Amino acid sequence: MKKYDVIIVGAGPSGIFTALEFAKRDKVDVLILDKGRSLNDRLDSVRASALNNRSVPSRLFGWGGAGAFSDGKLNLSPEVGGFLDRYLDDRSLIKLIKYVDKSYLDHGATTKVYGADDETFSKIKGEAARCNLKLIETRIRHMGTDKCPDILENFRETLKEKVEIKFDASVSDVIVKDSRVKGVKTEKGNRYYADFVVLAPGRGGAEWLDKQTKKLGIRSHMNPVDIGVRVEVPAITLSHITDIIYEPKLLYRSKYFDDKIRTFCMNPYGEVVAEVLDGIYTVNGHSYSDKRSDNTNFALLVSTTFTKPFNEPVSYGKYIARLANFLGDGVIVQRLGDLLKGRRSTDDRIKKGIVIPTLKDATPGDLSFVLPYRYLVDILEMIESLDRFAPGINSGHTLLYGVEVKFYSLRPCLSKSLETEITNLFAVGDGAGVSRGLVQASVSGVIAAKEILKRIK
Ligand SMILES: Cc1cc2nc3c(=O)[nH]c(=O)nc-3n(C[C@H](O)[C@H](O)[C@H](O)COP(=O)(O)OP(=O)(O)OC[C@H]3O[C@@H](n4cnc5c(N)ncnc54)[C@H](O)[C@@H]3O)c2cc1C
Repeated sequence: MKKYDVIIVGAGPSGIFTALEFAKRDKVDVLILDKGRSLNDRLDSVRASALNNRSVPSRLFGWGGAGAFSDGKLNLSPEVGGFLDRYLDDRSLIKLIKYVDKSYLDHGATTKVYGADDETFSKIKGEAARCNLKLIETRIRHMGTDKCPDILENFRETLKEKVEIKFDASVSDVIVKDSRVKGVKTEKGNRYYADFVVLAPGRGGAEWLDKQTKKLGIRSHMNPVDIGVRVEVPAITLSHITDIIYEPKLLYRSKYFDDKIRTFCMNPYGEVVAEVLDGIYTVNGHSYSDKRSDNTNFALLVSTTFTKPFNEPVSYGKYIARLANFLGDGVIVQRLGDLLKGRRSTDDRIKKGIVIPTLKDATPGDLSFVLPYRYLVDILEMIESLDRFAPGINSGHTLLYGVEVKFYSLRPCLSKSLETEITNLFAVGDGAGVSRGLVQASVSGVIAAKEILKRIK
């Protein structure tokens, strides 16, 4: 049986950037296993699903992972897109962000970076503060949903002669002996052996990773679960800010519950999309680099970190999402005005609105049957504050899609080089709870690979 130097589980950005480091050296024998398919196959099935107006698992699994059909916004600020500041100091993180950003540039990302100059940023930050909102500084390189697959395919071109890649290879178990990793086993029963294993299964594989870490006795920290809605407004409502900052990151602390609520993944002139995970429909958004809708969408997410004895935030998030699916046969859309009047939205009421939904197959319904009181109160409070910052957001025509859920799952205990408590077993990316965006996912892969290279040498 062939033995590899390194096995990487998952071909998303974190797995790809792990592999890129090894590809720069000769003679590191690397195998990437991914449960999904090649990018061409994924593109075919995503196009077919677009014709049926349905979301498909291929959006998350396969070459490029969730990154392939993401909105392609590279967040270049260390405060955004993950928790890597817990593992390395600011200077090292900024250096690694520049390092991966250059790689995206070398593989076809645009040279344009969005971000306000200091004076403009301070002015907008002041305006936000007067509305009880905290504006986080962001610098963004926007690749665009349409360009992401090409850029990720370029990474595959770089890697194809240097690493072995197997698709349709869902890893079921990590093989460990005497607290040292030995390899992995797939659902089909194939075993692959290596000195090092890097687990990079993304959000779609977070639950699997939880189960594995529990089985292997690796301790973990609780991460929050973020639950909320996607808001869609006429793009003009926010254009005076999004034209400068592109994706303003705003935080709000709710008066009643003292919860943290934030805007997430703002897509100026973008589209709302449905996303399917383990048969559950949730909502997300994206925007193209050269195609514009009339609307801007963003998520409003309430962050909850549960305390003992409850330790299943992922199941909780899924439960809420399932409830929306149960009532709406998929994603529910509701006009804010209908929600405030205590009535459901109907096709007729949506048609009367001035915001035309960009997600066509959402079911008009009533989110108050889905979201717990606490989340609704938090979200409505933040919408009021946002309305003072950008008048028009609290309009009765504003559309709310539900639910949007971000599962960060349990975060395995990791060393500074992202090694688990099992020798030579590393965990990176969104699945390991260390990132929640393309750049930090990519950086986390580089961190693990650099440590492995030191040991191989
Ligand atoms: C619609 C959408 C839009 C987004 N937009 C942005 C954006 O604009 N900017 C941004 O920074 N981030 C964005 N993100 C988030 C970004 O895509 C992720 O942060 C990033 O892809 C995480 O990379 P990853 O490698 O950790 O995981 P993923 O990209 O999820 O890749 C994980 C891979 O592991 C594979 N896998 C999982 N389990 C197994 C298993 N058991 N065996 C084998 N393979 C397995 C999967 O098939 C997948 O290919 C978006 C996400 C979505 C869904």
